[in-house]
Amino acid sequence: MSPSENKTIFAPATLVGESSITVTRISGKDTFSILTKIFSLSGEAFKCIDFTRRQTHSAHHGYIFDGKEIIDEVVATIFKSPNSYTGEDVAEISLHGGSYIFRKLNGLLSKHGAVFAEPGEFTKRAFLNGKLDLSQAEAVADLIRSKTELASKAAMKQLKGSLSVYIKSLRDELINYCSLVELELDFSEEDLEIVPKKVLLSKIDNIMQNIVNLSQSYESGKIIRDGVNLTIAGKPNVGKSSIFNYLLKESRAIVSEIPGTTRDYLQEPLIMGGIVFNLVDTAGIHDSGDLIEKEGVRRSHAKIAESDITLHVIDLTDEKTVDKKHTLKVGDNSRVLTVYNKCDLNPTQVDYGLCVSALTGENMNELQCRVIELARTLIRGSEGMEILITNERHRDCLLKSCEYLVNCKNLILSNAGNELISFEIREAMRQLEEIIGKTTNVDILNNIFSKFCIGK
Ligand code: GDP
Repeated sequence: MSPSENKTIFAPATLVGESSITVTRISGKDTFSILTKIFSLSGEAFKCIDFTRRQTHSAHHGYIFDGKEIIDEVVATIFKSPNSYTGEDVAEISLHGGSYIFRKLNGLLSKHGAVFAEPGEFTKRAFLNGKLDLSQAEAVADLIRSKTELASKAAMKQLKGSLSVYIKSLRDELINYCSLVELELDFSEEDLEIVPKKVLLSKIDNIMQNIVNLSQSYESGKIIRDGVNLTIAGKPNVGKSSIFNYLLKESRAIVSEIPGTTRDYLQEPLIMGGIVFNLVDTAGIHDSGDLIEKEGVRRSHAKIAESDITLHVIDLTDEKTVDKKHTLKVGDNSRVLTVYNKCDLNPTQVDYGLCVSALTGENMNELQCRVIELARTLIRGSEGMEILITNERHRDCLLKSCEYLVNCKNLILSNAGNELISFEIREAMRQLEEIIGKTTNVDILNNIFSKFCIGK
């Protein structure tokens, strides 16, 4: 632990503001001695109590006081080390909500030597004290951020340790093969083959396949966690902003008959069918000499390239475009759904495909159903999968682990020495261990925990 991790920390565990209660969490070796100086039981104002003699996981009704001033009537819940979230002595004080009382308590805790916690510091301590592994700690952040049932279930599974158990089982298998290869090294003089190379190859192949399958689950996992990137694109004035507003049920983008109104993209979250979408309205794609418009068009293409689904909007009243069955250049990831807008102005043209009107709402429900269905096909890959990864860091570690195993296979095939083979297996293992935080370096840890909210 670094010196700052020796300190007793505190932070709000709930939002601060006018509310029925605000919970402040304290963790560290001085938690109870600080609490003793500022808390007295109800009916015994200003009389200190010794929390070290109280039972763990117990709640106490009383007062927070500063000298002869009572600051608030509170409930203090205590959790004794090691049976707490952080593994340290922890207290949670439920105050009346309100920023004045909260500030007074902060001042009091600082006066007695506690320091305000960094973002994620409670969970970082839980990790450092072995209460959670790294992938479980990351799941805590995902769980807090999750906006849908799917995202919350995926985070909960990871928090319960299903990913950790699986990763450990893959690592244990690699340890097994590595020790056999290294054992052979000890008997190299005797030319003893403990594990036939053919068997080793097929075992490594098998593990590799499992790692590849897991890394591929990231495609669905990312969408479940971060949402589907849904980009609305097309020529100027076709009704992109009108569709954007309709889906959001608010007048977020400026709608105008003047072409080129949307010069940069707009992005808003949207939940449809239990799936989070990152809805993007883009500038109309056309040839322009105007520098700002050109930049807008460049950004539109960039957004399309990173989208999972692109809604390509065509104006039904624009005969040139409709007849040419105008197509849109899209990135690899993007699935395109073509929509013919303004059908209220051209009700006869129904053969083209999905004709809608963002103005009257005609067929807009059908459009939403099709978008949801397409999004579900992106997630469907993960159905039935017990374990799923939702984190890019985990995916990268898995891919690197695979690279080492490919090297290992090549070495076996070229009859290379066992020391080289075991080196590659060890590196592949190390990548798996990074996922659960067994060998993760300090910078990576700090980066992960700095993305947490205060008080977690
Ligand atoms: P964008 O440039 O593609 O974003 O298009 P806008 O959403 O700003 O719309 C351009 C013009 O078309 C505005 O005057 C809108 O009111 C009009 N418009 C959009 N959708 C419809 C529609 O379904 N029917 C009709 N009649 N007009 C529409």
